[in-house]
Amino acid sequence: MDVRDDKLFLGGMSAEALASEFGTPLYVYEEAVVRAQCQLFRDSFAAENQEVHFALKSNFNPALLKIILEEGLGLDAVSPWEVQLGLAVGFSPKQIIFTGNNTTEAELRYCIDQGVLVNVGSLAELDRYGMLNPGGAVALRINPDIGAGHHHHVITGGPRSKFGIYHTEGEAIAELLQRHNLRLIGIHSHIGTGILQTEEMLGAMEIILKTAGRFEGLEFVDFGGGFGIPYRPGQEALPLKQLGAAMAERMAVFCKSYGRDVRMKLEPGRFLIAQSGTLLVQATNRQSTPEFNFVGTDSGFNHLARPALYGAYHQILNASAMGGEPEQVVVAGNICESGDVFTQNHDGVDTQSVAKVEIGHLLALRDAGAYGMSLASNYNMRARPAEVLVTDGKARLIRRRETFEDLTGLFPDFQPK
Ligand SMILES: *Cc1c(COP(=O)(O)O)cnc(C)c1O
Repeated sequence: MDVRDDKLFLGGMSAEALASEFGTPLYVYEEAVVRAQCQLFRDSFAAENQEVHFALKSNFNPALLKIILEEGLGLDAVSPWEVQLGLAVGFSPKQIIFTGNNTTEAELRYCIDQGVLVNVGSLAELDRYGMLNPGGAVALRINPDIGAGHHHHVITGGPRSKFGIYHTEGEAIAELLQRHNLRLIGIHSHIGTGILQTEEMLGAMEIILKTAGRFEGLEFVDFGGGFGIPYRPGQEALPLKQLGAAMAERMAVFCKSYGRDVRMKLEPGRFLIAQSGTLLVQATNRQSTPEFNFVGTDSGFNHLARPALYGAYHQILNASAMGGEPEQVVVAGNICESGDVFTQNHDGVDTQSVAKVEIGHLLALRDAGAYGMSLASNYNMRARPAEVLVTDGKARLIRRRETFEDLTGLFPDFQPK
């Protein structure tokens, strides 16, 4: 992004011009940013025994997936349609890894038929997988012992997590592998998200390696995703090159003590796509209470759920008047729920400093490329945003805006008037 004559530009295009051509709310992605993040990741984890799988649940727009394919990365899919989409975009089955949870027999069979490796996440699922694919290769998602390096980012591991086979189940795992003659080739764990410090990531790695070391014959260890980005101004970025070097070094030590070469897999989602995306919304209202100055917009938590879901921070810029006097405002959406506020923290509604907003101004919610559109819904019967991709100063629609007919076409009894 850059600023010209007080206006926000994205990928060389004026945000206001994009809004007037495509309407609001609008997700805008900058292709150069996606490519730069992919390249940074590849440069940091470049060795031949390292494989990077983009977690497409963070954003499944096929135009973006195509860029990621061109950048040479694979995919981590969490549902059969994610697998199907990835294959249709051109990823090979070998480039895709499936990490579902609470999957059905049909879902497992689909992956097996497509030749996509499955990260199995429970003993029941391992049994089911074994019956469907006896003699096949399998990876296991383990819920590790988090005691070793517990910190607040370790949230998808431990005794309160639904994910993975609990680390104490070694005997039951061995019995099932033997019963179905399965070849255990990988151990997977995804135990953190939004990690911004090398030590935190290495701490998570340590926990996973400790678990992986208990299994024999592994071809890879998959450390999942969780690589954070700086959402807040002034926050420091994760030093990826330094982290890549440290993880490679740690992996080499592991391989030596393990007695064979084991590949490292990573599954970044947010890191690759978050910063490329901006949600453009229009200010439709201003009103005040004794406590807050509210700015109302034509979007809401149906389009960007992260603030309402997690108290997540997204920087908000006044794309129409970047240089205005900053004021503390609450930026809210048009959904009929009190939690429909973009400026939140873990305690709920918060304010953010934004250059003075007038009704009609265009606001830009930054770093919205991951878990933005992929989490959007039609709540309150509102269309989800359109999406455009900006490349070398040109914009291309990569998802059209939904229509009334799109939303009502699924009701067999309904006839539009
Ligand atoms: C969500 C998810 C990821 C990606 O997480 P990020 O925090 O976006 O990097 C990776 N692996 C699995 C299994 C996931 O569910």
